[in-house]
Amino acid sequence: MEKGNISVQTENIFPIIKKFLYSDQEIFLRELVSNAVDATSKLKTLNRKGEFKGDIGETTIDILIDKDAKTLTIRDRGIGMTKEEVEKYLNQVALSSAQDFVDKYQEDASIIGHFGLGFYSAFMVADKVEVNTLSWNDGAKSVRWICEGDPSYEIGDGDRDFRGTDIILHISEDSEQYLEEGEIEGLLNKYARFLPIPIRFGTKTETTYEDSDVAVIEGEDKPEQVKVETEVDNIVNNTDPLWKKNPADLTDDDYKDFYRELYPMGQPPMFWIHLNIDFPFNLTGILYFPKVSGGLELQRNKIQLYSNQVYVTDEVKEIVPEFLTLLHGVIDSPDIPLNVSRSYLQADTNVKKITGYITKKVAEKLSSLYKDNREDYESKWGDLGVFVKYGMISEDKFYDRAKKFVLLENTDNRKFTLEEYKERIAENQTDKHDKVIGIYTADEDRQHTLVAGAIDRGYDVLKLEHAIDAPFIQSLEQKEGMTFVRVDSATPDQLVQKDEEKELLLSEEEQTTVKDLFTAVVANKGNVELKPLDTTDAPVQIVRNEFMRRMKEMQQLQGQDTSMFPDMYNVVVNANNPVVKEQILNNEDEAARTENATHLYQLALLSQQLLSGADLKAFVDRSVKMMK
Ligand code: ADP
Repeated sequence: MEKGNISVQTENIFPIIKKFLYSDQEIFLRELVSNAVDATSKLKTLNRKGEFKGDIGETTIDILIDKDAKTLTIRDRGIGMTKEEVEKYLNQVALSSAQDFVDKYQEDASIIGHFGLGFYSAFMVADKVEVNTLSWNDGAKSVRWICEGDPSYEIGDGDRDFRGTDIILHISEDSEQYLEEGEIEGLLNKYARFLPIPIRFGTKTETTYEDSDVAVIEGEDKPEQVKVETEVDNIVNNTDPLWKKNPADLTDDDYKDFYRELYPMGQPPMFWIHLNIDFPFNLTGILYFPKVSGGLELQRNKIQLYSNQVYVTDEVKEIVPEFLTLLHGVIDSPDIPLNVSRSYLQADTNVKKITGYITKKVAEKLSSLYKDNREDYESKWGDLGVFVKYGMISEDKFYDRAKKFVLLENTDNRKFTLEEYKERIAENQTDKHDKVIGIYTADEDRQHTLVAGAIDRGYDVLKLEHAIDAPFIQSLEQKEGMTFVRVDSATPDQLVQKDEEKELLLSEEEQTTVKDLFTAVVANKGNVELKPLDTTDAPVQIVRNEFMRRMKEMQQLQGQDTSMFPDMYNVVVNANNPVVKEQILNNEDEAARTENATHLYQLALLSQQLLSGADLKAFVDRSVKMMK
């Protein structure tokens, strides 16, 4: 064996590799297996071009564990290396790229999962790495290279008799988990699942049932079945994943089966998009729309990012717009730079183009679903709605496309596009309002009385009950010139139609009396207004200020102190309800008047779940007293 020194300035590299990259150790296997795949693919290319003549023979890559020797071997049947190539590629190319990597990224551990050190990542888990290789070139001699994780190495004769390379890792004491089958199987499953060259990890037992020759089950004419167990190669990967195939050759079942392969536990997807583009960047993939049913957070990190079928990460936030992280599936692109830090990635022009392309494809798919079969699209809206709204509030480009197919749903479960809804409202609207006002409920059950009241007046009440709806409404208001008012904030005159406007039935003097009385009762909790509503409408109604309520909700959402936003509301007294005249104006007893006004006011509070504590107790006591 000859001895040599790798390079002077690299003295520190081994301890750094071990120490700083500890957290992402497991990627060594991805790096070595993808080198093996590259070496094999190169051989296949040489074969295609006629440079490598003859039968290419076996090309399967083997992963071998030897527990006694404490080694893990990655064996390929690729191009192999000559002595000159080992010196060039392992001592110079691989080392300098590892050096570069360590220099740049030891501060930025976050990207290590995206990009490996290449060959030298072997030293994260091994004290000693041995390379035993034979080049594909005619007359080449096998070479062995040994390095014990310090700048010195040895190089000499190897003993491979078939073209290709063995990378033999002598696993270090603190990394012995990599000698466990279960651990390696798991890593292969994660990183190598769709690599294009078959990867064999030992054998597995396959059980089949065959007819036996002689025995016949008594009373039946059939031969007895015998269990046959055969040892077969345990190939861990699918070398021809669906996203690489031509969409024209695929059936719905193919897509559903592939989804199950990716997410064995998941419910079947609603639909999918096959991405396939060569220019101006290369990207393939399949994105699935899962059934979301209201959940937002649960579903994240389901898109897997690959680069030439090598698994990179399932954190794709920088590559796909945030709202699309709700989708599932696979994106494969060699054009996404993985060797840069995350903040840089977001600014990368290729990544921006990719983001734009994916957004556009998703919008096109939704648009065609809507156009081709509206009924079916509506039936999926429960799962799609959150996603579409989320997209609209977070991406302007998506907003512009989606505003044609986003739906608003009313309490009768009828669904309208924005255009349809605007028209519908315009028909109902009084001239007083120059804006399209949509009335909505955030909780149909709790706001039942108010919802019923608005419906009685001929209004649609929209159901906007999801957390996403508050910011969604806001975008519509900003961009569509619409106004949304929650049922408990709708002032009665917003709900009164023009031909319905009533006269106040009280004289001016009576109005003042009533107003003063209620103002004293309500005190500083709100403003009192007198309105001429229907005689059958509630005598007192509480109207909350839409703007103030939203401000408060927003602050609460951000976890801020909301004490400076007291629950201010308007107290609308329906001067036309006979109770006002009979129980208040016509009541001689001053104390009873105040008591009755208080009772009506508290009744209104109660119906909106705004009455609590001592006030609630007083209300209950008074109610009982009245019945005596
Ligand atoms: P990269 O793969 O990014 O070039 P690596 O450090 O992983 O960097 O490897 C350096 C070089 O060593 C490769 O470019 C390749 O030429 C050579 N090499 C590594 N592994 C193998 C292998 N299994 N068979 C043949 N050549 C290999």
